[in-house]
Amino acid sequence: MDYKVLYRKYRPNDFSNIIGQDYMISILKNAIQNNKISHAYIFSGPRGTGKTSTAKVFAKAINCEHPTIDGPCNECESCKHFKENADIIEIDAASNNGVDEIREIINNIKLAPAYSKYKVYIIDEVHMLSTSAFNALLLTLEEPPKHVVFILATTNIEAVPITILSRCQRFDFHKISLQDILKRLKYVVSKEEIKIDDDALEEIAYISDGGMRDALSILDQLSSKTATITIKDVIEHFGSVSKKQINDLYNTIIENDVDNFDSMMKKFKEVAIDYKVLIRKMLEKIEQEAIKNKKHKDYNGLSYNNLKEIAYELAEISNYINISIDPYVLIEITLLKYFNNQHLNNLEKELKTSQIISREIISPSAEPLLNQPKAEDSQIISREIISSSPASSELINIRINNCFVNAKKDYLQTLKDDWSKFINNLSDKSLLNLLIDCQIVTASDKIGIMTTSVIETSNLINTKLKKIEDLFNNEYNSNYHFIALDETRWNAEKQKYITNLKNKKVYKYMEEPTFEEDQEIIVDNIEKIAYDIFDKEKVKIE
Ligand SMILES: [Zn+2]
Repeated sequence: MDYKVLYRKYRPNDFSNIIGQDYMISILKNAIQNNKISHAYIFSGPRGTGKTSTAKVFAKAINCEHPTIDGPCNECESCKHFKENADIIEIDAASNNGVDEIREIINNIKLAPAYSKYKVYIIDEVHMLSTSAFNALLLTLEEPPKHVVFILATTNIEAVPITILSRCQRFDFHKISLQDILKRLKYVVSKEEIKIDDDALEEIAYISDGGMRDALSILDQLSSKTATITIKDVIEHFGSVSKKQINDLYNTIIENDVDNFDSMMKKFKEVAIDYKVLIRKMLEKIEQEAIKNKKHKDYNGLSYNNLKEIAYELAEISNYINISIDPYVLIEITLLKYFNNQHLNNLEKELKTSQIISREIISPSAEPLLNQPKAEDSQIISREIISSSPASSELINIRINNCFVNAKKDYLQTLKDDWSKFINNLSDKSLLNLLIDCQIVTASDKIGIMTTSVIETSNLINTKLKKIEDLFNNEYNSNYHFIALDETRWNAEKQKYITNLKNKKVYKYMEEPTFEEDQEIIVDNIEKIAYDIFDKEKVKIE
């Protein structure tokens, strides 16, 4: 049997069979009808989008004795002998990138065509030519004889010198739409009498990602199967991932099932699922969820912002395609971000307990002397996590206030020394992990403020204050209270403190309104005061 691979067998023989490039085809058809043939064309675009096929149909059409609306008639002598026509010269620059090839073109170019109106040079992957070959080609393109047409094709237009581009009429081929590929596949399947399920055919169109040649190659490889081809065959043989698998993967995020997520990702890697397909399908899933999120009031999946972030982060991973980083690792780490940390879930529970602590401290009659920052206009501690517990946010505000009432350089130095010994001797490993990178940044005789670089850590510390304080106070026979802030919040608080000093506002203990009389603050001293209590951090006084 004279078997031909499908993509060769179904290579277009006129313009009507070229799929998904209607606009460019219409321009080429017009050129033929009006007999306005340029001497050089460049076709750029992804692989398998019809560049070479179009070049050949065009070459055939301009030599056809009776061109039709669809290009070549396929009946005249020129059309019939097109394949063996010595005037149609195909060069694959990927394999013949030498100057010699191009020199040969130059030497022969002046000779009139032997059989046809035009000599047509089709140079595939033209960007692969060496620099000297490009220079030789350039000379030819500058003054080509009337009977010569160049059709250059490239998957990498960026790599083609501008001097070449400026001498060519440029056509950008696009990825072929899924519908167009599907339509063509259906045509081929019916002609070849291949038994295949509709969803399997759709999956092939999907995997081929806009390339008709890939689509037909995949169909080709599966078509040896005698039984009906199913979507399972396609997925197993071509590293794809089913809609169900994508849904399952997405659901592990919603259900916070890290173990299942991890094992699914490992399995994808094991069976070599094309990570680009995985990313594309995941993006589509995210898009569907984002639409649901906006459409349905009772939508209980991820927040719109999270969905948007995932989309952008996955898209970014696609940029690493040619770098030797394991893409599965990147995808896994990216998606893990959207799982709820178990310890943060526990945090919420613990925060409810922390309300009790705060009630001990805040007397009901306490009124803040200063205009305390309201949650909505301060850089509030982890709104997502603590919002369920306004008292703890209040506790933080009050402790910041109370610390500033009597913050002094000496207290800070003493506390820092004690704290450092405390951390060195701390035997509770989980506490140590939390506190090891904390900085004590200011202190009064009763309250120390520590900072962390990550807000989650300070939130977590604030749920464990009682324990920390008990341990610390036992060791130093003191009565210290602490509060943890992330650095952003702390910087904002510092600035606010300075502003308050400038405005001569005075800090007072909030739970003991009678504790201290108002003090006159001398504005000139602000810098010194701030400098002292912030431990020589640079403080800008505006
Ligand atoms: Zn013809």
